[in-house]
Amino acid sequence: MLYIGCHLPSSKGYLAMGKHALALGANTFAFFTRNPRGGSAKPIKESDAAAFRALAEENGFGTLVAHAPYTMNLCSADPSIREFARNMLADDMLRMEYTPGQYYNFHPGSHVQQGVEAGIGQIADALNAVLKPEQTTTVLLEGMAGKGSEIGSKFEELRAILDRVALREKMGVCLDTCHLWEAGFDIVNDLDGVLEEFDRIVGLPHLKAMHLNDSKNPMGAHKDRHEKIGQGHIGLDALARVINHPALRHLPFILETPNEDEGYAAEIARLRELYVE
Ligand code: FE
Ligand code: FE
Ligand code: ZN
Repeated sequence: MLYIGCHLPSSKGYLAMGKHALALGANTFAFFTRNPRGGSAKPIKESDAAAFRALAEENGFGTLVAHAPYTMNLCSADPSIREFARNMLADDMLRMEYTPGQYYNFHPGSHVQQGVEAGIGQIADALNAVLKPEQTTTVLLEGMAGKGSEIGSKFEELRAILDRVALREKMGVCLDTCHLWEAGFDIVNDLDGVLEEFDRIVGLPHLKAMHLNDSKNPMGAHKDRHEKIGQGHIGLDALARVINHPALRHLPFILETPNEDEGYAAEIARLRELYVE
């Protein structure tokens, strides 16, 4: 079974997202836990979350992959921004419990001249302050393209963060095909080699979800520009190998391609055709 979906608007609540996903042919999805550029979060209605949980169960949804706001930088050089980010993470962990057992993905952060080591320490400190043994959410570090001072474009950096988190069992990794490619990993010609390297440095059991995107740029560009599936430098054949790879094929795949509903539905249908059951 291929678990595939896309980013959905969350403003109308959980049940609306579940129905939206079904209409697109999706059986998982991503959503921003709050405004992606700001900090405000609407209250969650338990009745809405309960209706969604029933719909997801009936329709065999895979694990959801929520996304933290882009503005959440746990390793900002400014302590007040770090604290703001930490509070946002803590609040999101409470919000995620309305849909127990899902994934929550975030960009590790940009260290802005503090250096990678300092940044990694700050990210791990925040996770250690916020994660709770009783939470049911698994928090995923997203592998990044390496734009500016972004942490997480090297497997060693993801590993270093995981190594410093006490509640390691609450953590995982989400890899993004566009980010991998733009970070310099040749997933087109050597997917096996890239996954072997990930396994050696981080460990494949920690890989919990994939973002499936083509890229507007050549390998190693470090720019992070997503493209529609099959219209970029990665290409449809390579992305078909990603969804079918024995180490990946059971994971939820989330499209973050520049599309409206119609384009997402078409990409989901095309990828379902290319998935070998
Ligand atoms: Fe992301
Ligand atoms: Fe992504
Ligand atoms: Zn991206």
